[in-house]
Amino acid sequence: MRKTLSSGLARLGLDLPAERVERIAAFGEAVLEKNKVMNLTAITEPEQAAELHLTDSLTLLKVLPLAGKSLLDVGTGAGFPGVPLKLAEPTIRLTLLDSLQKRMHWLEEEALPTLGVEARFLTGRAEDFARDNREKYDVAASRAVARLNLLCELCLPFVHRGGYFLAMKGALAKEELREANNAIRMLGGSYERTETFEIGGAVHSVIVIHKTGKTPEQFPRAWARMKQKPL
Ligand code: SAM
Repeated sequence: MRKTLSSGLARLGLDLPAERVERIAAFGEAVLEKNKVMNLTAITEPEQAAELHLTDSLTLLKVLPLAGKSLLDVGTGAGFPGVPLKLAEPTIRLTLLDSLQKRMHWLEEEALPTLGVEARFLTGRAEDFARDNREKYDVAASRAVARLNLLCELCLPFVHRGGYFLAMKGALAKEELREANNAIRMLGGSYERTETFEIGGAVHSVIVIHKTGKTPEQFPRAWARMKQKPL
């Protein structure tokens, strides 16, 4: 785990203090250990977890300066990308959001206290939290949660004007972006650029969306409505 993580960091050109690398690896190990009794991830090999979960999460540090920023991880699951980012850059003010109680309970009560990591926890659906947490965050990030047109409606309402939404995507990034053009515009966003990284032998993309306007009050809609009639 540590060796693969260190070479991943070197490839990204991220020079982190040894103590932070150690804590990121310890979190990866905790995920794999808990995965034996709770469904957290399909990945069970330490080297793969180091590459596909830890290094992949840390690519966001190469996309935007995140020090001191408030960051919302929408659909964090077992804590990706939010937890490795906070461990690598402790000044990030991290909020984790997911609707799955069991995973959130493990993060809040077990995994993060053990590592001494501070975060805020929102357990429930993104579209429900958006009302009370509107335009509050500098950055929203999300990986493996929904197609981009739907994901924009889940994430952009949380970001204040001038902030960013970072969507972590795989090989279909270009196609998803084409499909999401209208949603980005309607939700007050503006496509800025896509950054690509080679992770585990495949191209991973981070789509960078700048929040340039306000999200109209009627968004996000209920999930069923979003799916039925994507923007
Ligand atoms: N981001 C993590 C990762 O990349 O490993 C987890 C990905 S997992 C495939 C998707 C997660 O998104 C699940 O934990 C699910 O509960 C959560 N999720 C999906 N839709 C959601 C919504 N509308 N609100 C909150 N959480 C949601």
